Amino acid sequence: MKLSQFAANLAEVRSRQVLRAGFSLVLLIIAFIVIFGLNRLTKVHESLAEIVNNEQVAIEMLFRMQQASRDRSLLLYRIASTQDAFERDEQILNYRNLGAQFGEAHRKLKELQFNESEKALLNQQWEYALATQKIQKQAIEMVTDGQIQAAQNLLSMQAIPAQNKILDSINNLLDFEIKKSHKNTLLLQKQQGKTRIFMITGGILAALFVGFIAYFVNSRVHMLISNLSDTAQELNETNKHLEFMQQAVDHHNIVSIADVNGNITFVNDLFCQISQYSKQELIGNNHRLLKSGMQPDAIFEELWQTISTGKIWQGEICNRKKHGGLYWVATTILPMLDNSGLPYQYISVRTDISSIKEAQQVLLRSKNDLENMVHARTLELEERDEVLQSITNAAQDAVIMIDNQQNITFWNPAAVIMFGYTPEEATGSNLYNLITPPKYLDAYKAAFTTMPKNEAQALSGATTELHALRRDCSEFPIEISVSSVNLKNNWHAVAIVRDITARKLAEEQLKQLATTDPLTGLFNRRRFNEVLYAELARAKRYATPLSLIIFDIDHFKQINDQFGHPIGDQVLIQLSALISNTLREADVLARWGGEEFTILAPNCDLQCGRRFAEKLRMTIETYEFTDVSKVTCSFGVTEYRENDDQSTLVKRADHSLYRAKQMGRNRVEVE
Ligand code: GH3
Ligand code: MG
Ligand code: MG
Repeated sequence: MKLSQFAANLAEVRSRQVLRAGFSLVLLIIAFIVIFGLNRLTKVHESLAEIVNNEQVAIEMLFRMQQASRDRSLLLYRIASTQDAFERDEQILNYRNLGAQFGEAHRKLKELQFNESEKALLNQQWEYALATQKIQKQAIEMVTDGQIQAAQNLLSMQAIPAQNKILDSINNLLDFEIKKSHKNTLLLQKQQGKTRIFMITGGILAALFVGFIAYFVNSRVHMLISNLSDTAQELNETNKHLEFMQQAVDHHNIVSIADVNGNITFVNDLFCQISQYSKQELIGNNHRLLKSGMQPDAIFEELWQTISTGKIWQGEICNRKKHGGLYWVATTILPMLDNSGLPYQYISVRTDISSIKEAQQVLLRSKNDLENMVHARTLELEERDEVLQSITNAAQDAVIMIDNQQNITFWNPAAVIMFGYTPEEATGSNLYNLITPPKYLDAYKAAFTTMPKNEAQALSGATTELHALRRDCSEFPIEISVSSVNLKNNWHAVAIVRDITARKLAEEQLKQLATTDPLTGLFNRRRFNEVLYAELARAKRYATPLSLIIFDIDHFKQINDQFGHPIGDQVLIQLSALISNTLREADVLARWGGEEFTILAPNCDLQCGRRFAEKLRMTIETYEFTDVSKVTCSFGVTEYRENDDQSTLVKRADHSLYRAKQMGRNRVEVE
């Protein structure tokens, strides 16, 4: 539903509410006016009736009294003037009847509601009446006694004026009542006028309300009509749109309608055009007519299963044309459901996809060709991979690959042996954290953090010697060569790691051999010369004293001869150990050759050298050597002099030693 329609509906509901309220209000006002007006009128009417009744009675009674008074006066004259006694009696009876009538009227008057002044008038009148009655009675008695003249005199002198007084007072009262009646009538007229104004005002108000409601209804109806016309216009447009869509569908889609059994009830032109059947041939026929037999029955079973349960089916169907050709259609079958939710017909919309299918076939063929090529290439690569795998498996060196986060992605069998971690344990771990001794970790990370980002930065595979850690926490030296490789646009590094423990050991041994004497373990002559060179330079630079002592075992030849060469060797070993223990830390002892030794004593002048040599000589002399017991040595001592080099210094010491030998051995000579 559109928003405008919704708003219009809402407005309509509100209008109805307003209308209902308005009409209710008007009805209420009218009811109020009617009830109130009627009430007022009733009251007015009642007051009027009461007044009229009251006044009428009063006036009537007064008239009666007036009449009776007049008639009694006349009767009195007649009574007084008649000679016939019978007639007189009859008139006297009449006279009394009139008196009773007067009394009756007076009584009735008294029953009426009168104000004080009226009552006063009434009383006065009654007094006059009594007075008059008295005189008249007297006159009647005179007549009855035959005193007619006297009675006539009494009547004219007293009774007539008294009677006139009664008439006057009755007239006064009558006047009063007539005036009162006028006044009351005016009052009632006023009230009537007011009620009329009220009713007219109420009527106008109600009319105004009705007018307003009419206006409101008119405007609402106008709005509704305009909404209705908008909706009609919208519907018209939608209809046009639908028509257009239908045309479009008819032009581009193959449309058919079939009943629940699949019997065709409608086909569009395109259906006929593509299937090569006419409408007459198709309508009433079953859809099976178009079946190509190219697709398994399971597809159609699934189709019927879907649509017969009210669901939409979509799929591709291969149909056969009337003249034998095949065509493919992308099909959507929409079941139309009745009120109980069961399909009563099926609308099928199809699109011819034969050309797409053809293209698919072509693509499929090229895809198969490509797949074959890929398969062949894969086999080739697998073969290569196998070769590569064999190489890395057989390699003595650890082959490790890490990604750009330095996490291990490849770990060959040699790496397992070298570091003690299985490929499962190593893969994914950070290489540095895994195999670097903690003390080197920071330095190594700093040196190897940068991974190349392009060919120019690629690592070349240069070899570096580092320290590595095995799983059992033992440290060992490695030689590592890192090369970077770009795999699927990500830079990796391949590290070839070699355990160089054995090589390092051999190197160490070689170095040892090159610098030490194998028999005594002392520095050899080569190493001593190096030290001597360095110490000479230092003495020269800092002008510090430096002494050189050369000593030689006395008559060693005889020891060899007497005890044998091995015992001679033992003497050499024992002597070396003995001297080593006597040296200061800075002093350097070396085997100069055969049974000849040198000592370099830095920060030691000639006197110091001499004392030192003497101390050594005495130590040797007093030492008890195994098998041979006593051994002595001769010492030549010299100190560094300016412009000395190695040879001049050694030559001088040697010369001193020679002199010590000359002078009887087991002695120290200084140069
Ligand atoms: P002198 O008091 O004059 O030094 O007499 P000497 O016998 O010690 O002198 P000479 O230099 O003639 O003899 C040195 C001997 O030392 C010769 C050699 O056989 C022996 N000799 C040299 N090197 C070794 C060695 O490594 N082991 C043993 N057992 N003897 C050695
Ligand atoms: Mg010698
Ligand atoms: Mg000797």
